[in-house]
Amino acid sequence: MRSRKIKNANGISIRWKLILYMTVFVAIILLVTWLFQVVLLDTFFRAVKRNEMQEAADHLTEKLGSEELSMAAYSSAVDHSLCVTVFELGSDHSEMLINVDATGGSFTATLSFEQLGKLYEKALGNGGDYFTRIAFGGFEVEENEGFEKFPFYDATESNSKIPTKNMRTVYVRVVDRGDISYMILMNARLQPLDSTVRTLGTQFVWITAIILVAGLITVLLLYRKISTPIVQMNDSAKLLARGNYDVVFSGKGYRETKELADTLNYASHELSRLDRLQKELIANISHDLRTPLTMIKGYGEVMRDLPGENTPENMQVIIDETARLSALVDDLLDLSKLQSGANTPVMTEFNLTEAVREVMVRYDALIKHRGYLVEFVCSQEVSVCADRGMILQVLYNLINNAINYTGEDKWVSVEQTFANGRVRISVSDTGKGIAPEEMPLIWDRYYKVDKVHKRATVGTGLGLSIIKGILELHDAAYGVNSGVSKGSVFWFELPATRIASLPTEITKEI
Ligand code: ADP
Repeated sequence: MRSRKIKNANGISIRWKLILYMTVFVAIILLVTWLFQVVLLDTFFRAVKRNEMQEAADHLTEKLGSEELSMAAYSSAVDHSLCVTVFELGSDHSEMLINVDATGGSFTATLSFEQLGKLYEKALGNGGDYFTRIAFGGFEVEENEGFEKFPFYDATESNSKIPTKNMRTVYVRVVDRGDISYMILMNARLQPLDSTVRTLGTQFVWITAIILVAGLITVLLLYRKISTPIVQMNDSAKLLARGNYDVVFSGKGYRETKELADTLNYASHELSRLDRLQKELIANISHDLRTPLTMIKGYGEVMRDLPGENTPENMQVIIDETARLSALVDDLLDLSKLQSGANTPVMTEFNLTEAVREVMVRYDALIKHRGYLVEFVCSQEVSVCADRGMILQVLYNLINNAINYTGEDKWVSVEQTFANGRVRISVSDTGKGIAPEEMPLIWDRYYKVDKVHKRATVGTGLGLSIIKGILELHDAAYGVNSGVSKGSVFWFELPATRIASLPTEITKEI
């Protein structure tokens, strides 16, 4: 057994790959969570509140001047947790029409007239709408707290810098109705949101730690689950590589490894079969080579030493044995060429019927005296496009086999039929046939049904594999119909390129 060291492959193991992927995955999840829950939560919340306030303001604008205004203000405030105030501003007097507060702590009441006036002007200057953020009580907050400055409050004038996080998002809408104009003032609390963000930030640290630990445990479990069957199969494959064909691959765990194990089991079974067949072939070929060589040597020596033995019959033995040797060598060469892909078919159009007749004629000389009955039945002249030499070889091999394996009556028939644009050549014999379980195997190289090697009747075991190789090169359909004691019919089909009728059926007897 050829011993070759099995190298251990370099590269990252599944475990580290899994850890890497899991780390990236966890990092992405944490990043997204952090982005949405901590960084962007405030932005999202304010955007949602802005929308709600704008919609509520639209609704109130429709109801301005009607009796339904207070009801609309009330439901808007309660539904969206807002503080809603509506001012009516006339040329001679102004008044607060409604003030509904669903936020807890009336914010509007903390604003001075001056501040309200500034908000009104900002909204007016902004086309009727104005958004801002203001600290509860109207105080300007410290800049480094991260909040906007009180928008209508000059920071330089202010000396009341009281830091507070009780912020409001404020929306002002001014609606002009001729003599009267209205100012809708809405605000919502931001404070619960700030604490939510802080809570989530703290939770985030815990979430990170828990996800990392859970991820690591998952990776280790996954690694065990994935790698165990692979490692086991690798061990078995190493045994197989050393020539142990009894090894069994078991890919327990998941479907992919089970499939891989099945494939490897099949491969090892095939390898062991081929190995056995190859050994048989070498034994058979050595036997087949040695016997004619011994005969040739023996007859040659006799003819050299005994002048009376220098007869044509003895000469014929030497010629026959040489022919057998060259047939064997030819078969081996043909098969190796077919297997290496060196044989590309040269497609030409030729008369197949004529070619079969030509082959039949060659059998005249070979088996004239042995009482064989070889028929050729056809009713059309059919041409095909194929490699003529290769198709002739298929015919020779099939007829040789039929002659080798036919029954006591020595009957062999070659039949040409035509249907659906295809011509079929069938070679039948009356031999002992082939058992169903053997049928798929006979096309394998080296395969012989009769395991006991009998030189006289059995060939090299290469004939059908050469036929298979050639017909597959031609994309031709082929097969065998047979059964034990029923004789065999080997056939192949080729697309016909031309057909012509024959006047009568031709039957040939050799
Ligand atoms: P061989 O040189 O042994 O005939 P082949 O490849 O031509 O090799 O055939 C393979 C096997 O198929 C044969 O050993 C034989 O068992 C079986 N076989 C082939 N042709 C026939 C046939 N016409 N009748 C019965 N068995 C056949």
